Amino acid sequence: MALESVSHIRFRSWLWLAFFRHSIVPLLLVEALLVVAYLATNATIRSSNINYLHDTATVALAHEAEREAELIVRRLSGVETLLKVFSEQTAKALQTPYRQVPVEEQANYARNGNGVLHSIADIGGAASFYSAITPAEHQSLDKVYRLSRLDPLMKSLVEDQPLVVQSYFNSFDSYNRIYPFFDTQTQYLATLDIPSFNFYYLADSAHDPKREPVWTNTYLDPAGSGWMTSVVAPVYRGDFLEGVVGFDITMERIIHTILAIKLPWQGYALLLDNDMTMLAVPESGQRDFALPVQPQGLKKVSQETALPTAFNLNKRQDTALLARAIAAKPKGFMQMPLGGSNRMLAWARIPDNGWTLLTVVDENTLFANANGLAQRFRHVGLLMIAGLVLFYLVFFLYVHAKARRLSDSLSGPVGAIIDMVTAIKKGNYQTKAPPLPLVELQHFANGVADMGQALGETVAALEASETRVRQALENSGDVVWEYWPNNQQFLVYAHSESGQPPRSLSLRQYLDSCHIDDRQRMQEVLVQGLKTAEPFSLDYRVKNSAGDWIWLNARAQLNTPVNDPHPRVTGITTNISRRKAIESALKEARDAAEEASKAKSLFLSSVSHELKTPLHAISGFSQVLQCQVTDPAALRSVNQIVAASQHLNQLIEDLLLHVRLEKHSLSLAPTLIDLADVAGQCLAMMAPEAAKRQVVLHSELSGSLRYFGDGGRIKQVLLNLLSNAIKYNKAGGSVVVCLTYQEGNIGFEVKDTGIGIPNHSTARIFEPFERLGNANSAINGSGIGLAVSKELAELMGGYIEVSSKEGSGSTFTFWLPWTGERADEVS
Ligand code: ADP
Repeated sequence: MALESVSHIRFRSWLWLAFFRHSIVPLLLVEALLVVAYLATNATIRSSNINYLHDTATVALAHEAEREAELIVRRLSGVETLLKVFSEQTAKALQTPYRQVPVEEQANYARNGNGVLHSIADIGGAASFYSAITPAEHQSLDKVYRLSRLDPLMKSLVEDQPLVVQSYFNSFDSYNRIYPFFDTQTQYLATLDIPSFNFYYLADSAHDPKREPVWTNTYLDPAGSGWMTSVVAPVYRGDFLEGVVGFDITMERIIHTILAIKLPWQGYALLLDNDMTMLAVPESGQRDFALPVQPQGLKKVSQETALPTAFNLNKRQDTALLARAIAAKPKGFMQMPLGGSNRMLAWARIPDNGWTLLTVVDENTLFANANGLAQRFRHVGLLMIAGLVLFYLVFFLYVHAKARRLSDSLSGPVGAIIDMVTAIKKGNYQTKAPPLPLVELQHFANGVADMGQALGETVAALEASETRVRQALENSGDVVWEYWPNNQQFLVYAHSESGQPPRSLSLRQYLDSCHIDDRQRMQEVLVQGLKTAEPFSLDYRVKNSAGDWIWLNARAQLNTPVNDPHPRVTGITTNISRRKAIESALKEARDAAEEASKAKSLFLSSVSHELKTPLHAISGFSQVLQCQVTDPAALRSVNQIVAASQHLNQLIEDLLLHVRLEKHSLSLAPTLIDLADVAGQCLAMMAPEAAKRQVVLHSELSGSLRYFGDGGRIKQVLLNLLSNAIKYNKAGGSVVVCLTYQEGNIGFEVKDTGIGIPNHSTARIFEPFERLGNANSAINGSGIGLAVSKELAELMGGYIEVSSKEGSGSTFTFWLPWTGERADEVS
């Protein structure tokens, strides 16, 4: 049996692998999936958190920006209202004559060498400066006096309004009245052209057609008061612009307010003027925007003081986009990198002066909590993975140890079963199953024990049977052998000494012991048997130990496939010397019988021929005498001589025919004949004899039946059957003749109502000279008729069948081979 290639694995490894594949791996997969799901959920939660925070921050920032902007708007609106009041009062003062100018007031003005009309000392009012750009003759002292009435108002405006640090009036002809008092001569250029400054022209009709208060750009106060802005409003007399009133507003408070704004997520606010210059920037903002330290120091108000470009969002490259966005929309939101990380920015415009409040939050801070939380979850996830790894390590070790214990507890019983099987293999069939803990293994062990028992019984039965066969072989004298053609060796299993090991013999040795006449044939038969694998048999002679030739018969067959590279022939050899002796004796006896038969035939034929000549003479003379003798007694004797000679003649004819048939020297002369006609002729010939014996002849033949055969011999057989049917009949009996058919044969059936034939004698009636005890009866006969008829029928390829009942008649059927159509079909 061809074994399939199987990879072997130890039970322990198999068990461990099974555990690993079917429990640990799925568990591991599930756990890994859970961890992945956990981490994915964390990531999702984090991203939703961040989105939520982002949205919240956006809303909060925008809200904060708007709220703070609103506060600033309210403050600035208050200032504007006061400025309007101041403007109205100034216009009124300019129009109202001032007749009673206090002496102290009058004494406080002087004109210096440059042509500047100025106040001399601080007498609790405002400082006054008439620029030399207006010639002295045009400088209006009256206007100066009229305006001096505004001093208390200007004072109260500055003192009551924390934002207002200076209140002033500038006239179209470069007169300046300003509170609080300072030494204008040292601060101003003598030819100061006031209308050329923005705090003047911004309120002129060209720039401010609506005559509303106008805010200037912010600037750093050259006098060291920090960030400043001015709000100015025109003072008209009719459509004539008399001048501009204004407040200088310190940004300090606003900036403080803005710097103090506490935004969530450590955010901050900053203020942009309408030129996108950053006015109030807290420290973190300065870091974010990388701002230099703000320029300080006093400067003459000879030029507009501006901040470095770094403070202007428009002029910086990194914030140009933001500046455009802010300029485009009064309220908005944006994300951009700033100071090395992403920032969220929201802004709201202050409509009064076009400032913008910008709120900034660092995304890292905003998302710090969410990121921290996610980080913590990630740590938990990593801890879980580490825990899982540790758990599986321990679990692996546990399962490994378990598999080891399990395999030990299984391999013990399995080993016991293997021991049982080994014992059975060694012939110890009566093994007992040891008690085992597992039911299935116990059943298995019991089964092995039962199998061993059954095997033992079978082996015993086989041995007994083998003993019987061996004894039978020994008794039969047969020898069993095997032959290997490849090395031309025989292995002979001796029969006589049972238990003796087989004897090895080469083909050459064996052939040498065989009769020289048989050797060639032996080899031929062997070669043929090997080629065809058919069973073969051979009789040959071998010299026995006594030196006599004995006859052996070998029957053998190739019992491997024809193309097997190691062919083997198994055979049995029988001593057939006795059979050969009997066969030879039989042959001798048969030869002798044949010789005797030949001698008998020769004798019969020569005697018949010898008898025939005198018989013809007797027959001829007696027939002549029949005609010549008139004496009735003599005629009766002559008639008897004629009848006897005819009978004898017939006998001789039959004998000669029998001899010829035995010698196979008779040949047929077939022609086309009509069988019905042949039968009719026979009936006609036998009619006188039937009448003489008072037997009714009856024919059931009709029509014609063509047949190709020897008509004379057919007639001869039929006449013999009819003659017997009449001879062995009873007076008043009948004979019926008909044609009958069966598959491939046509038969003449001759049925009589005669004496019949005993059952046990029907076979004998066809033997020559057998008359069944009628030899001495009155019925003439020689016992040769049926023998000749049978031989003739067989010569024609047919046979004779007989059925009879003693005392009630016989039926003889003469069958001939038939290939034509049936008579009734033909006729
Ligand atoms: P035989 O010359 O005696 O008739 P046969 O060979 O014709 O010789 O017949 C052999 C014997 O068979 C007969 O002697 C007779 O005893 C028996 N026999 C033959 N035909 C019949 C028959 N029709 N009825 C009874 N006996 C028969």
